Amino acid sequence: MTAEDPLPIERPCMDADIVCVGFGPASGGFLTTLSRAILNPDGSTAIESPSAPGLPLQVLCYERADDLGFGVSGVVTRARGLKESFPDLESAGIPMAAPVKDEKILYLLDPVGASRRPALMRIADVGIRALGGLLGVRDLAMELPWTPDFLEKHGGMVLSMGQFNQWVGQQVMGSGAAQIWPGSPVGEVVIENDAVAGIRLTDQGVTKDGKPADGFMPGMEVRAPLTVVADGPVGPIGRQLDEAFGIPEGHHTHDWALGMKFVVDLPESCTLEPGTVLHTLGYPEPEIFGFFYVHPDRVASMGIFVPSWFDSPARTAYRYLQHWMLHPAIWKHIKGGRLRSWGAKTLQESGRRGEPRLAGNGFARIGEGSGSTNVLTNSGVDEAWTTGVILAEGVLELLQQKKPFTAENLEAAYVSRRRHSWVDHEGRVAERARDGFQRGIIPGMIGMMAAGLTKGLVAMPGKPMPPHRRVPSLEEYYRGRIAPDEIRRIVKESDAKGIASHAALMERAGWPEIPFDGELLVSHQDALLIGGKVQAPAGYADHVEFLYPSDCAACDNKICVEMCSGQAIYPGEDGRPAFDREKCVHCGACLWNCAKGNPNDPERGLIAFHAGAGGLHSAEN
Ligand SMILES: Cc1cc2nc3c(=O)[nH]c(=O)nc-3n(C[C@H](O)[C@H](O)[C@H](O)COP(=O)(O)OP(=O)(O)OC[C@H]3O[C@@H](n4cnc5c(N)ncnc54)[C@H](O)[C@@H]3O)c2cc1C
Ligand code: SF4
Ligand code: SF4
Repeated sequence: MTAEDPLPIERPCMDADIVCVGFGPASGGFLTTLSRAILNPDGSTAIESPSAPGLPLQVLCYERADDLGFGVSGVVTRARGLKESFPDLESAGIPMAAPVKDEKILYLLDPVGASRRPALMRIADVGIRALGGLLGVRDLAMELPWTPDFLEKHGGMVLSMGQFNQWVGQQVMGSGAAQIWPGSPVGEVVIENDAVAGIRLTDQGVTKDGKPADGFMPGMEVRAPLTVVADGPVGPIGRQLDEAFGIPEGHHTHDWALGMKFVVDLPESCTLEPGTVLHTLGYPEPEIFGFFYVHPDRVASMGIFVPSWFDSPARTAYRYLQHWMLHPAIWKHIKGGRLRSWGAKTLQESGRRGEPRLAGNGFARIGEGSGSTNVLTNSGVDEAWTTGVILAEGVLELLQQKKPFTAENLEAAYVSRRRHSWVDHEGRVAERARDGFQRGIIPGMIGMMAAGLTKGLVAMPGKPMPPHRRVPSLEEYYRGRIAPDEIRRIVKESDAKGIASHAALMERAGWPEIPFDGELLVSHQDALLIGGKVQAPAGYADHVEFLYPSDCAACDNKICVEMCSGQAIYPGEDGRPAFDREKCVHCGACLWNCAKGNPNDPERGLIAFHAGAGGLHSAEN
């Protein structure tokens, strides 16, 4: 037992040389680069383990999800970093991969009259409809005449993140140079004397609130000179490091988005070719952007992003995604298709301004949780991968020089390399690109174009704020559309049924009912079962915790219930929200979607999002 251990128990303990938290593209890049150097082509040891002399370097990676490739992403990528690691990427036979062939941006007009468009946009819509023929408007969509350089992905690839990660995992494990363990949530980082000494896996055989129960198995402690934290945008280990070591002055993580997607078997009638990429804007709400990427064999990934600056307290991604799919310009491609897979995940959209301390004594951070995602180019996979490659190069240098993984050495070998990389350079260009969206969609679009075209020199000013400082009440949001007493009645009725109120509110505000067909337009519950195949192994503590239940009971703006991607947060007893672990897809959106600020950390809301097992069981997302 160590001094910091909250449980009076003996934990199993083991030593390694490097331990990684999370297996996404960032650790994919790290482990691929490292594993190629650890063993010689004949299988003999090239880098010996300092902790186990005679053996090769001992590298372990723990992934929370129940299998590798259960993550969620788009993905269209320029694949610059990926192709440096795999020059034959296009012919590598990765399932669902296709070179980008055709790329378009579509502006979607509102076919139902319920979208909340600013006046200027409404006027523009009238003009676009009137000049429809001249502007090439078809199916209530106008193709933009050109895709700005900073957005386009020509020469890149359409991938499935799940399939790609599985493929990378097989290469790494097949090399025998590193082990990756899925189904192993890391619960805590071990910090001793201002240095990271390793990690602890979560305990099993515990009650919902984490107390030992039948079959109690304390999580193993894995001690290593270097801990690589690659736990993505909402990873609890990254946040524990932020709490312990702080984040650089002026940096923040106020900007987020929830990405939700469907993978669909396209109907026979669909003529879109593999590698087709469509980006959409304008609908279902002006703040919500959409994507549609075509894989080989008549399969497509499609979805939407709901950003933190979308000021709706009824911010349901699932319902909006269905309205987006029903837009005539999208529906004509997918009508008669079938849902194969579904998923959702948070994106950290503060980009480089959300960059934490990249390295310290005994630890380094890579990937989206390290601020690598580029919000101007809408790109995160290649960037995350490349930060992993850069760290591996730095680590190999330190190993060769037999230098320890101190803050100073990692700064010189990793951070300075990263500062000279295209990831950092382009991240700086993107830093202020989205600030204008804090003031509205039109300033946002102007600001993004200005930042893109001037390489970041000019941007629209705006102050990023966490949702709890900006999301209005339901009454304010629906003012002029639904009377306050009717809102209260709808919320009360929904609470009594134990369901969110957004469906009833949206229908009352003019959104049509979703014509469920059981194949493509399915209920949220069916999406969990058919598309996400969501599961939660028994014996783990609840990873979503309401920190101040009495504040929640008094909260009349329960955006946590409305936005929950899996309907895992629902109206519970005594006016409090409740959590059902079996429906949680671990998207992490509850971490930043709360109506109230945390008294101990005004940057956060009143929900804690810990490490947990289970979630989506699909490797196609
Ligand atoms: C819907 C959607 C569409 C997107 N589209 C695109 C696109 O078209 N192009 C593009 O380039 N990018 C896209 N992105 C962004 C891209 O997916 C991310 O930038 C990228 O996945 C980041 O990689 P990462 O390795 O840093 O993190 P992640 O991919 O998030 O991987 C982190 C891993 O750590 C694991 N983990 C977390 N906590 C723990 C823990 N405590 N213990 C163990 N494991 C843990 C997670 O389960 C996860 O597998 C999209 C994202 C979404 C959600
Ligand atoms: S978690 Fe936040 S949004 Fe949800 S009920 Fe509590 S205070 Fe309200
Ligand atoms: S409870 Fe689970 S599914 Fe719901 S928002 Fe939180 S992480 Fe996502």
